Amino acid sequence: MTWRVPLSDVNLDSAEIDAVVAVMRSGWLTMGSITQAFEQEFAAFTGSKHALAVTNGTAALHLACLALDLGPGDEVILPSLTFVASANAIRYTGATPVFADIESTDWLCLSPEAVRAAITPQTKAIMVVHYAGYPCDMPTILEIARQHHLVVIEDAAHAVGAALEGKALGTWGDVGCFSFFGNKNLTTGEGGMLLTQDDQLAEKLQRLRSHGMTTLTWDRARGHASTYDVVALGYNYRIDDLRSALGRVQLQKIPAGNARRESAVRLYRELLAAQTPEVAIPFAQARGQSSYHIMPVLLPEGSNNLRFIEAMKARGIQVSWHYPPVHTFSIYQFSSLPRVEDLKITEEVSSREVTLPLYPTISDDQIAWVVQAVKESLFL
Ligand SMILES: *Cc1c(COP(=O)(O)O)cnc(C)c1O
Repeated sequence: MTWRVPLSDVNLDSAEIDAVVAVMRSGWLTMGSITQAFEQEFAAFTGSKHALAVTNGTAALHLACLALDLGPGDEVILPSLTFVASANAIRYTGATPVFADIESTDWLCLSPEAVRAAITPQTKAIMVVHYAGYPCDMPTILEIARQHHLVVIEDAAHAVGAALEGKALGTWGDVGCFSFFGNKNLTTGEGGMLLTQDDQLAEKLQRLRSHGMTTLTWDRARGHASTYDVVALGYNYRIDDLRSALGRVQLQKIPAGNARRESAVRLYRELLAAQTPEVAIPFAQARGQSSYHIMPVLLPEGSNNLRFIEAMKARGIQVSWHYPPVHTFSIYQFSSLPRVEDLKITEEVSSREVTLPLYPTISDDQIAWVVQAVKESLFL
């Protein structure tokens, strides 16, 4: 179906097409000099010491868990209000996800207090999710991690271009993980990036990305190495130069794209406050710089968000739900899930949350249509 206003839209033009075609003409398609350039540019953009491109955001999270030695018997505390990939990546290693609540109905990120309450002798890591691109309380999370000797993984899939205290999200924890899926602020179709400030972790992540091999095809093609050893049980989580070429162009568009997202969010806030004051708009407090990945709102208590989504659809407007909580999925209701912490705020937010359209090319008129449709769909 064609939407009057889709949920999100890619921002691609001839610059991306030219960059991809140039890679095809170059004769070197997989992880080579263009991927290295993408990594260097992403590292510079985030102020990170290391950046490693991978095949998708889930692979980034999986490698982060592996490189931090998570495994059976280890518990990892994370929010349930996230995409299922965050929790799955933990389970791939045999470690156990332990879901903790979010801060409040205003700030939909992992609550440091809830983290503290969920710590046991088995706890090994905290995985934060910068929901919608708004920063978690990283200073407090890092303090808790330091006190309890835990490692910190940032799921920064929403957070390209976001920062707290001037420091890029994804560079606060031990490893930061980004996704470049088709609906993310920076897209390569499928793709992802790992950030770390630790040389040893970077080396480990690099090896695990490519079968645990000590040298790469690229190094051998350049005559830098002629053989290799395999020193870990790694994966093929490499990206290719076609996607990296796309990513380099997309990275240049982030400042302007995120700025337009910000002004669109400001307009949404004004129009919604004036026309539908019953709708709550999270992230009202000021904390850091968001990347404004999505536009979550909370319907009045007792509303049915799925019925609302259908009413918006009838008006040509695509609305989504971020997220059905992970702990409610069938595969997460399994018996060995040790315990579900008190997730009252998560459950309340999730039952009332809907995500309105937001993307850099959205027009002010489209935002006005969305708000009008929200008004009409609220009490159906
Ligand atoms: C998109 C996303 C992921 C997964 O990234 P993929 O690139 O799709 O594998 C993980 N966590 C969150 C919060 C996401 O939004």
